[in-house]
Amino acid sequence: MTVRTVLKKDLKGDWARCWLYVNKNAKKSKRKYSFVIEIGRGINEDFAIDILVHEWGHAYDQHHNGYPRIHHRKSWSDAYNECYTIVYGRH
Ligand SMILES: [Zn+2]
Repeated sequence: MTVRTVLKKDLKGDWARCWLYVNKNAKKSKRKYSFVIEIGRGINEDFAIDILVHEWGHAYDQHHNGYPRIHHRKSWSDAYNECYTIVYGRH
């Protein structure tokens, strides 16, 4: 799973977004898709880390469970919990 994180100047009202990109050359490349997480500039560091963990949860969830009809579904919650534990430890 490839996840790239970029800082964006203006996300038009969002703090962050997680995009799924499908690789059209999937037959030549092992990477069928990748994720790009965009985080808005100007938010403080602690909040940015919280948001990054939240968005990692989306990438992890979609990697294992496919594209969601409901973004914050149960499997996202489980994935978010995994990511949260990796970053912050057991809670
Ligand atoms: Zn979300």
